[in-house]
Amino acid sequence: MNEAIAWQSVLGRDPAADGRFLYGVTTTGIYCRPSCPSRRPKRDNVAFFSSAEAAERAGFRACQRCRPNHARTANRAVERARDYIDSHLAEFGEERITLEVLGEESGLSPYHLQRKFKDVLGLTPAQYIRARKSERLKGELKRGETVSRATFGAGYGSSSRVYGDADARLGMTPATYRRGGAGMHIDYVIANTLLGTLLVAATERGICAVTLGDDATNLEAGLAREYPAATRARVAPQSSSLGSWVTEIVEAVDGDRKRLDIPFDIQASAFRWKVWRELQKIPFGETRSYGEIASAIGSPKAVRAVASACANNQAAVVIPCHRVIRQSGDLGGYRWGLERKRRLLEKERAISEEGTS
Ligand SMILES: [Zn+2]
Repeated sequence: MNEAIAWQSVLGRDPAADGRFLYGVTTTGIYCRPSCPSRRPKRDNVAFFSSAEAAERAGFRACQRCRPNHARTANRAVERARDYIDSHLAEFGEERITLEVLGEESGLSPYHLQRKFKDVLGLTPAQYIRARKSERLKGELKRGETVSRATFGAGYGSSSRVYGDADARLGMTPATYRRGGAGMHIDYVIANTLLGTLLVAATERGICAVTLGDDATNLEAGLAREYPAATRARVAPQSSSLGSWVTEIVEAVDGDRKRLDIPFDIQASAFRWKVWRELQKIPFGETRSYGEIASAIGSPKAVRAVASACANNQAAVVIPCHRVIRQSGDLGGYRWGLERKRRLLEKERAISEEGTS
């Protein structure tokens, strides 16, 4: 591909170039057809791809306007039905888009629409709806939302339902989404707490790492290992939007019982997120065993996988993995030092008892 020519096609929104290549914009993480009506990016921020798959492998997501991951169809009725599904997926639960409605939208009888749709797209409308939901869910996860928010955004009715689907379909590693943080910019703040040094790192979408340690140098090295391909900058807490999150997290580490409500930008499997969501439900001052968490998420045999999800927690205290201990009462492990886990639990228990007496 000649990039200079490709760039001219992008500048000219040349419809003839559609289907020949796609372009991604590194600052937004979105990829488009050359003819997309969206604002033209700066040349420096553009990468070219030969296919939607290649763009998605590189961590880009499809533009909602030009839908570069969809082939254009020759059939207007099917196109209308598909547009209706695409634009209503987020509003309605699964059962709400009926063949009758799609028939009305497309001007065909439900029976004919069903057949025509299958002819043109190779899927029935119901299969298409399911595929689009799965695709959206992956897109949301790639943007780093928590599973519960991703679930909502993808138009699924309830989270229990999506997990059944998601476990089967999202069995991919975080690395599939974003290799080493390529294309990410991370700001981080170092702060002091009663339990030692705290590092809070975030992208523009949310927190991507919260770690505890003895000194800033080690924590910074840890962040670099986690996101080797990202650009990273240490910022002063007051000067950044991170500041208020850092304040809340420091308060939590120091024993404040307020529930943290902070957006995440952490890539992890659906299973890990399921465990982490469950950890967030453990009340302040209480603990659960690894086995209890496994049962609570409906996988009673997955005790070791739960322990591994705890050991790989990327947001200390915000995701309270310190509240999970062994059935025997033994503290188990803690990624940021067992002594810190012990002190966190003691403090939470003491504050909790104060509150109830
Ligand atoms: Zn576009």
